[in-house]
Amino acid sequence: MMILNEYKVCSKCKNNIRVCFFGKDKNRVDGLNYNCKSCINKKQKSSNEKNPGRNAGHCRRNYLKNHEKRVSYQKKYNQRKKLEKLSEIINENMAN
Ligand SMILES: [Zn+2]
Repeated sequence: MMILNEYKVCSKCKNNIRVCFFGKDKNRVDGLNYNCKSCINKKQKSSNEKNPGRNAGHCRRNYLKNHEKRVSYQKKYNQRKKLEKLSEIINENMAN
């Protein structure tokens, strides 16, 4: 039986933290992770930032694909805006 009011020292931040703030690890003798949850979160966050991994590569491809789309859309949009502006000017001149 695990007593949740027990304390355990996190091997990362060296703080004495309640075991309920540790992640579970079945491979460990005490059934708990070496590191507290906040250290694990930090570690995961920083490793994701360092190597974005396959998913991020996929996202990047999508980003580039969408970027091309966006650029061509923007070009069309600008052209249309120009034409609209031009016809506005023409209409104004006609009205005067
Ligand atoms: Zn910690």
